[in-house]
Amino acid sequence: MLGAERRAVATRASDLISLTPGRTGNLSVRRDDRFAVTPTGVAYDRIEAPDVPVVSLAGEQVAGAAAPSSETPMHTAIYREFEPGAIVHTHSPWASTLAILHEPIPPVHYMLALAGTTVPVADYATYGTEALAENAVEAMREADAEACLLANHGLLVTGEDADAALETAVNVEYTARIYCQARALGTPVELSAEEMGEVAEKFESYGQDDE
Ligand SMILES: [Zn+2]
Repeated sequence: MLGAERRAVATRASDLISLTPGRTGNLSVRRDDRFAVTPTGVAYDRIEAPDVPVVSLAGEQVAGAAAPSSETPMHTAIYREFEPGAIVHTHSPWASTLAILHEPIPPVHYMLALAGTTVPVADYATYGTEALAENAVEAMREADAEACLLANHGLLVTGEDADAALETAVNVEYTARIYCQARALGTPVELSAEEMGEVAEKFESYGQDDE
């Protein structure tokens, strides 16, 4: 069941190692009304595809030897609402820095257009709860964004597939970093909604190649 999606989770989970400390964070890949998600408590470079849990959009584990990530309710809620192909959640340090300030990531670099014009902050709720899942859905819906910061917690990103979601997560983390650094030196200049819109159009028509 979901062989390709479970292999994608098993192989791409190691990409989380450079983004999030220890065994925090998670990755899932959806097909129709089910998704494969990183198991809880397994190091990201030791996940085997047959162990990868498969969960229904009703939140029931339907396959896989290992228990699913504690943030499975958040993945379930995001899939139900926005139907992306994949979800990445990290505690990456620069996005988390802004998350503990409850400050969104403004459009200071064009690569942020992978996620939207601004990456909003979802209100705080305890990890793994339905309340956190609802807060994340609401923040992304209001900002029309494909990512959000989770207050005092980390980052959540969606994408068409695992590659796209991971690429967006890396670029959102990069933008959070240079924004924090720029704030330390002076006042960052933001791109306009129109300028970000032009970039988003280019991404859609020509892929994500940057020059
Ligand atoms: Zn987390």
